[in-house]
Amino acid sequence: MKFTLIIILPFLVFSCNGQEPPKELLEIEHYSSYNNTELKEKDEMGESTTSYDEIILEVLSLVGIPNSDIEIRTTSSYGAYSVINRDCRRRFFLYNEAFFDSVYVVTNSYESIKSICFHEIAHHFYRHPLKSRWEAHFHELEADRYSGFQMRLIGATLEESVAAMKYFGNETTSQSHPEKSLRINEIKAGYIDASLRVFKDSTYIKIDSLIQANEILFALQEVQKQNKGFEKSNKDIFEKDSTFNFENVFTQPAYTILGKILTVNEANEIFDLATNEKVGRITSPYPGAEFQLLKFETSTYKIENGNIYSISQLGTPIKLGTKIN
Ligand SMILES: [Zn+2]
Repeated sequence: MKFTLIIILPFLVFSCNGQEPPKELLEIEHYSSYNNTELKEKDEMGESTTSYDEIILEVLSLVGIPNSDIEIRTTSSYGAYSVINRDCRRRFFLYNEAFFDSVYVVTNSYESIKSICFHEIAHHFYRHPLKSRWEAHFHELEADRYSGFQMRLIGATLEESVAAMKYFGNETTSQSHPEKSLRINEIKAGYIDASLRVFKDSTYIKIDSLIQANEILFALQEVQKQNKGFEKSNKDIFEKDSTFNFENVFTQPAYTILGKILTVNEANEIFDLATNEKVGRITSPYPGAEFQLLKFETSTYKIENGNIYSISQLGTPIKLGTKIN
């Protein structure tokens, strides 16, 4: 133990005496980047001591890998980079402080910096730096989709999720990166994908506490449109001010139950929103009843105060769904 202390002490003295933190000259072997800025072959990396470290560390925690071996360093190249060096078995998250400053100033949000961090972390997860450069565009879109997905999970808005790309993506396609319009679409696709997953996983949880009902409906409809190739015809709604427009998208009453969204028409017939098939009906058990019955698939459920409950002779009713529109 004494031996260890003797070794560490000189370093502590060095780092506490007010000098500039030491820089390390590193040969860059393999890297991916946020946009088409490039790293030098030998880059002088600084010890990262800015407030952005905390954001990067938070992002690593958010994806469940605190204390990761990814070393955070600064670089003089104007961008953000994921570096993997096989030789010394080290990997890095490199960023330029002025670049992050610019992102913050332009977007007025730290969330947009997180979106860049998620993008870079995706490069590490997929080990993109070690893969063929011929597939670089595909790798970039993968990282963009992941970023959109994670941004949704941490509760960022779609606008915050695409803001950095809007201003710092490349207008035209380069050898390393696709044009930003394609990348923004990919971020949106990841965002919508996550919205749907959150919705499906939360059927048994109080749904309102997680996401807004209209957002779920909108996300579901958007995915359907994309799947059916209607994306282009609905582009004006989808891209309006780069934000979702929730108004007038959905007007019928709707319920969620068991991972489905059911809409109700004026005749109290029930339709599955995903397939538009008639799947049941709502009835009243007797005139003036304070609850209704929902006949759906092969079962009957009780609707009371906007919630859907199981009906069983024994035990307490279980909440299985809720009114969302
Ligand atoms: Zn990238």
